Amino acid sequence: MRVRSRLRFLPVLTALVAVVATLAALPQPASEPAGTTAVTAGPGRGAPRPEATGVVLAVHGGAGTALRREDTDARTEKAYRDGLAAALRAGRKVLRDGGSSVAAVEAAVRSLEDDPLFNAGKGAVFTEDAGHELDASVMRGSDLAAGAVAGVRHVRNPVSAARLVMERTPHVLLAGQGADDFAARNGLPVVTQDYYWTQARWDSLMQAKEQSGRGRAPGAGGKTMGAKAVGEAATGTVGAVAVDRGRDLAAATSTGGMTNKMAGRVGDSPLVGAGTYAKNGTVAASATGQGEVFVRGAATATISHLVEFGGRDVATAAHEVVHERLTALGGTGGVIALDPRGVLAAPYSSEGMLYGYVTAGGEVVTKVFPGE
Ligand code: ASP
Repeated sequence: MRVRSRLRFLPVLTALVAVVATLAALPQPASEPAGTTAVTAGPGRGAPRPEATGVVLAVHGGAGTALRREDTDARTEKAYRDGLAAALRAGRKVLRDGGSSVAAVEAAVRSLEDDPLFNAGKGAVFTEDAGHELDASVMRGSDLAAGAVAGVRHVRNPVSAARLVMERTPHVLLAGQGADDFAARNGLPVVTQDYYWTQARWDSLMQAKEQSGRGRAPGAGGKTMGAKAVGEAATGTVGAVAVDRGRDLAAATSTGGMTNKMAGRVGDSPLVGAGTYAKNGTVAASATGQGEVFVRGAATATISHLVEFGGRDVATAAHEVVHERLTALGGTGGVIALDPRGVLAAPYSSEGMLYGYVTAGGEVVTKVFPGE
């Protein structure tokens, strides 16, 4: 009798357990104020702890030497922080207005492309023959749609061209002249090469040529830089990751590549799974650093796979890729990686990485010094 009366409650209990389990599995709504932002102080190295929670959008402005506290004046520091913050606000505005994560990362990256301080769009680095060849990509987490351009020479905002490739062509990657023509045909602003020029990048090219011991005049061609010099030249690439109200993830990356790179060289930034990856349920990630190594290590896709198939959380997965797998391949750099719940990881193995994030509550945080 007692057994039977207990059994009567069994379906109710089972239903209750199912409801509780479902609720626990549901992600927190993105529009909720963060409230619980837990910023881990200290360097990007070390224990794989998340950088922050409650994040809706993050950007990076490149890995490499970044800025050194001891030789950065207040004006320079402010300029970099302002650049990162402007991108974060541009992206957040899109999200707050109900826009998609794809539109948000595009807006954030465009802002950084227009800022001459960063190595993307205006301010892109020089190739070995003193030209500019730009790479960019974007990926949508909901359906793994992706678009990219490589080696474009006349698009003002390569990330927008990448988005158009994703949305208006059956292809994923357009390169060179065809990509430039496609962007122009689709109404994107085009520029002449001198638009990208900045004194700082020109000086870097001259320095790189001196360091590589060749000192050739621009346009003289020749072999690519040595591995060490290439690593040192990796800085200023930009990227963004975002999650929108619908919990859709997106990531985008844009770059001028590496100073003194060979004409025609394509790095990781426009390659899905290397520089950029987004998959709903796992991660949106954008990378910066020695592109060749990020390509060989399938950097951002590996972070996603470690989450999906390896049961890692985003911080552990990103840390493992940046500090173990890529360093084992001889490369340094960093990633920003955002999971669908707004947990952000931002590990880097380079001396520094410029990055920042904005929470659902609107808190904007920028990091420009190593270990900040
Ligand atoms: N990853 C970029 C490239 O190899 C460079 C960078 O991140 O600074 O083109």
